[in-house]
This record gives sequence, C-alpha cells and structure tokens, in this order.
Amino acid sequence: MTETIPDAAPDLDFDLKVLPKVSLHDHLDGGLRPATIIELAEAAGHTLPSTDPVALGEWFRESADSGSLVRYLETFDHTIAVMQTKEGLFRVAKEFVEDLADDGVVYGEVRWAPEQHLQKGLSLDEVVEAVQAGLEAGVDAVAETGRDIQVGQLITAMRHADRSQEIAELAVRHRNNGAVGFDIAGAEDGFLPSRFKDAFTYLAQHNFPATVHAGEAAGLESIQSALVDGRALRLGHGVRIAEDVTIEFEEDEGADADEVDDTIGMVTLGELASWVRDRGIALEICPSSNLQTGAIAGFGEGIESHPLDMLYQLGFNVTINTDNRLMSGVTLTDEFELLVETFDYDLDDLLELTLNAAEAAFLPLEEKEALVEYINEAYSDLG
Ligand SMILES: [Zn+2]
Repeated sequence: MTETIPDAAPDLDFDLKVLPKVSLHDHLDGGLRPATIIELAEAAGHTLPSTDPVALGEWFRESADSGSLVRYLETFDHTIAVMQTKEGLFRVAKEFVEDLADDGVVYGEVRWAPEQHLQKGLSLDEVVEAVQAGLEAGVDAVAETGRDIQVGQLITAMRHADRSQEIAELAVRHRNNGAVGFDIAGAEDGFLPSRFKDAFTYLAQHNFPATVHAGEAAGLESIQSALVDGRALRLGHGVRIAEDVTIEFEEDEGADADEVDDTIGMVTLGELASWVRDRGIALEICPSSNLQTGAIAGFGEGIESHPLDMLYQLGFNVTINTDNRLMSGVTLTDEFELLVETFDYDLDDLLELTLNAAEAAFLPLEEKEALVEYINEAYSDLG
C-alpha cells in the first residue's frame, strides 16, 4: 500500500514568495550574487576560490557551514574585497534591492559597516552615498517592473575596531539621506555594547534608533548591555534571551512521559526576559544562520530545537530574517518555508511574524501604518 503524506499546511500550497515580507536583518556584504562577485573581482584583480558562479556559491555555503569560524570569516574577505569602489558598492546595493523584491520583500533594512570599505581611498561619507545611490537605483528598477519596495540603511560599526563614535556621527549625518538606524557587528563575545557607551549616548541624544547584535555568540550579559548601554530598540538575533526562560514540566502520573508537552509546563521568565517580552523589544531571529553559527547549540541539535517557536508562543516580539543570504544560501521565502515545515506554521503565523517586523521597522509612524495596512490587505486577498 502506498502511503500518501498529507500536506502539512494545505492553505500554504502556493509559492510563499508572493507574500509581502519585511526584512530587518540582512547584511549587504552577505547577500551578493556569485556572478557579480566574479565580475567585480576580475576588475579589481582579486583572486577567488572559484570563478564559476555555481561552484563559488557552493563554496560560500560550505565555508559558512563548515563549523570553522576562520573559514566563515574568510567568506567576507571576498565579498568586502569587491566592495571597495563606488561602482562596486553601487552595483551590489542595487542588486541587493532587486533580489529582495524578487523574494517578496516590500520593506528592507540593509546593514553594513562603512569602515570596511575604505581600502581604496574612499571616505566614510562617499561609501554611504555610493550605497545609497545603488539602493535608490534598485528601488527604481523594481518600480519599473510594477512593484514597490522601500529600503533603509543600518549604519554599522565593527566591535573589534575603535571607530564607533565616528560611525555614530556618520549615521546621524546621513539620517536624511537613507540612514534609518545604527548597529554594532562582528565579534560579540568579549566586546560588550558597554565598550561603545559614548557612541550610543551620542545616538540617544540625537534620538537616532539602534538595533544591537546581542544574544547570538554571547548570552544574557550581552543582551543586558545592549539594552542598558546600547538603548537597543531591537536585538540583532537576541535568541539567547531564551536562556532566561525556564520551563518546568510537571510529571503527570499515569501519562506517558513522552507525551508531556509544553501546555502543562510551568513557565518562568527572568527579569531580563520579562523586560524584553513585556516591552515588545523585537528579536531579529535568523533561523538558518543561528543553526550554522552555533547560536542555538545550547538548546539542542537541529532547527527543531530553535527556541524561536517557544519565544513566539510566549508572546515575544519575534521577527524572521536571513542574516547573510549568500553564506546561508537562503531567502526569506526559504526561511518561511522552513518554519512551516518545522513548526507547522500557517498563514496566520506568517502574517503575525511579518506584522511584528513591520511594526518594529525604523520608520515614521504614518509609514509604518501604511506598511501594516498593505501587508494586511495582501494577506486577506490570499485568504
Ligand atoms: Zn547579523
């Protein structure tokens, strides 16, 4: 007898690409097209591990998946190497927007660290302007195909470097020219946000919003510092906030121990987890990336042990993102599909996760409301 496996989610039996999406955590230097890297590298005289687009794409994914941090970081050497000229930055930014639009993204925030793009003599302001010009050209190119997308830059400072004040000033200087927020990235462990306190204070004094990578490679202390010293309005990943959530399962005598589920678990939130949940601090969760980098290793093996579902069920403000589309070999559509397969999410769940992201966007209220309305309408047309 042939067994037919029922479709886990029959109402999602269509290409999830058509769903309008909001992307809040996506690195510019982690989302290049392999073919573009090859062309730009040739022009720059930079040697790549492969000059075949398919093989190069695989090399990026394998290196990111290798479990070796050295190999993972090496991938960025190649993308950053081809983003040192105005032309390179423009092209990468333009294609980034086109690729987001092809994935159904209607609003995206693009994060990148200008200080990493000065190797050929460009200034911080010049690189921000080149990326902004590319983003705008991408928006125009998308509009020509009859679609709409809006994008903003998250100007990022590198944690291991010492330029955070300068970068914070750069971000504020470009607030009317595409910069919508600030972030710090790079080695989290050992580089607490408190090290960049002055920069964060400067941003706060200028009422300029920050999201902070925290709770990925380091735990609760890093999240606490992101919120207190960084005044983070969102957390980049933030997934390890789950370490401050305790669930005790009561043994129900007579019931099969294997059948105990979380409905009879006793949930306790620590003060930090309560703050993050109750204040609605958005968590920029990147499922595949979290698995690759070991951010969720403490919760078990495999994507099914990702605490995002537990956090979502408990009412945390969970948003879904890609982090580095090239290295992880994913799109936001892929991440949605992964959640549908792993956690049985339906259209209502995907809508809620998308609205969470829209409401956490670094946009003025009126624009946020328009975005929310657009998403709600698109979903109701599907339903
Ligand atoms: Zn990131």
